[in-house]
Amino acid sequence: MRGRNLRIAPPHVEERKCMSSAEVLKEIAAEVSTCARCDLCKSRTRAVPGEGNPQAKILFIGEGPGFHEDKQGRPFVGPSGQLLQELLKSINLKREDVFITNVVKCRPPDNRDPLPTEIDACNDYLDRQIAAIQPLVIVTLGRHSMAKFFSGEKISAIHGRARKKDGYICIPMFHPAAALRTESYKIALREDFKKIPLALAEAERLASESPGKEAVTAAKAKKEEPPEQMSLF
Ligand code: URA
Ligand code: SF4
Repeated sequence: MRGRNLRIAPPHVEERKCMSSAEVLKEIAAEVSTCARCDLCKSRTRAVPGEGNPQAKILFIGEGPGFHEDKQGRPFVGPSGQLLQELLKSINLKREDVFITNVVKCRPPDNRDPLPTEIDACNDYLDRQIAAIQPLVIVTLGRHSMAKFFSGEKISAIHGRARKKDGYICIPMFHPAAALRTESYKIALREDFKKIPLALAEAERLASESPGKEAVTAAKAKKEEPPEQMSLF
């Protein structure tokens, strides 16, 4: 029949499926739950992919699951999690407002430090989570997540200082577990948390000025710029 205007895409043009950040995060979590890329899979009870708001403006990156996290499959649910929740509350945030994950998604035996090979093996999941969420601010908790953005630096020297790295505003902070052991770290962590709202406001201002956050983020990630101290801090 002629004259009917049926708009059918040619067979070689595949429909491009555009996944939402929630869908991408779900896919990553499913992969993580059965992952065997490193030996930590042998001793874990449950992998802990991370959780929170898929559109979170703030991403928290811890070290790795501990005893309680390994049992429940959820990040920061033990004593460190309690402190994190309290710190979030102090700046009027709830867990559900942010996204919380770790550099390694499976518990290192006896809570030992994750090995460089384990961090490397797990890094792709973290990179994909960051790309899906596109947070405005990344808060690293402890040395191991700090090293992803500021390698070779000392946490005691740079904690609480917001700096632009890879197109994100990153703020390294002490780990809540360290804060629970050492009072001076707890005081520092509380002070550093107070800087998050200001860093977020600055990040929102920068994002609103830029032509497209995605493009800027991608371009910056490629350039491997040195960390840039933000004027505010
Ligand atoms: N410590 C971490 O680094 N991550 C958790 O999820 C819990 C405790
Ligand atoms: Fe896979 Fe990461 Fe777990 Fe290792 S720690 S098994 S890389 S999910």
